[in-house]
Amino acid sequence: ITPLKPVELQDVLDTITALLSAGNVYRTIAVDASYRVAEEDSNMLYWALNYIGVKRVPISYSTPINITISLEELGFYDDINPEPLRVFKSSLELLYRNWPTPLVRLESLSTDGYRVWAKLEWYNPYSMSVKDRIGWYMIVRALETGWRGREVYETTSTNTGMALAAMGAIHGFRVKLWIPKTIQKASDVLLKALGAEVIRTDKQLTVDLIEDVKTEAKRSNALHVDQFNNDANFLVHLKYTAKELELQLKHAGVKPKGIIGGLGTSGHLAALTLYFRSRMSGIRVYGVQPARGEVIPGIRRIETGMKWVHWAKPDNIVEVKRCEAIEALLRVARRDGILPGLSSGAVAAAFLKLLEKGEIEPGDYILIFPDNGFKYVEQLSEYFAGKGGDC
Ligand code: PLP
Repeated sequence: ITPLKPVELQDVLDTITALLSAGNVYRTIAVDASYRVAEEDSNMLYWALNYIGVKRVPISYSTPINITISLEELGFYDDINPEPLRVFKSSLELLYRNWPTPLVRLESLSTDGYRVWAKLEWYNPYSMSVKDRIGWYMIVRALETGWRGREVYETTSTNTGMALAAMGAIHGFRVKLWIPKTIQKASDVLLKALGAEVIRTDKQLTVDLIEDVKTEAKRSNALHVDQFNNDANFLVHLKYTAKELELQLKHAGVKPKGIIGGLGTSGHLAALTLYFRSRMSGIRVYGVQPARGEVIPGIRRIETGMKWVHWAKPDNIVEVKRCEAIEALLRVARRDGILPGLSSGAVAAAFLKLLEKGEIEPGDYILIFPDNGFKYVEQLSEYFAGKGGDC
């Protein structure tokens, strides 16, 4: 954390004092002060608010004022502490001291005037996906609030399940997972290998299944971590994912025109939307969902029910078919030599659609790639066998 020069802190404090005397304090401080200092020093707001004793701030104008988060979770101070020579004292450090995950410029998607950068979330160690962040943080928060149970229940499309199974292995609790039948069979093997119990269900990852698991958990005195409603999901991305991306962009001297990401629980994209909208004026955010009737593991349609996307709405939603996602991931694989997963392919396909339709102006675009292709051999084999559907 960089100490502030007194004169900078004084500027912020003067602003805050003026706002305080104008009334409507809480709401005004959180939003207006962040706008004022955003471009100059990301630590300044944190320190100024901390200095005058503010503990919690509201999420945004668009949410009810009683939804607040702690100052630390706002992600306005620099808590990213990577291990430069990559020697880790535990497999837990392997997660949070390995951040940031890489940000890489892709040749396959960049064209005249459009530079495309992908944030590779498969560089997380347990599920090799973005969901390690939430598996870790949901358990951190449960332990912090005194949970000492022996069993965790959750619904998952694989990745959150793998992250929780890893947490169970490390902390010593059992993990029982409900996974829709439409998800690739390889997931059972991976989850069992990490010590979890797996139940396949006919239901999709919607309210119905989530309620069933909640009831089961109550009956068995297990902790239902509930990635769809647990705010630790949204907050870990606000505190770390968004912050580290901002640090990376600053380092690269990139001011992006837009961010594109998939929607599953909406945790990561809603947090990025909230964070970057308040700190980079004019930035646009695009959410990606499967076209009607299409199955793309990890992402869902908004109407199936998600929480945080309503706290911070993307500017636009792009619909993608499974075969379009596969074609886009192959384009990246065969030009950049890295193999993205299906939802990453959907994000890449969304960029290409926006480009083709002339809906985005030239500049830098950030694509969030949640995982890589290694779990999806089944879907890729079907596609190569010509069973990928109509594109
Ligand atoms: N892509 C994959 C492969 C996922 O596993 C998930 C979440 O499960 C997502 C995308 C969506 O992320 P989020 O839940 O943060 O919306």
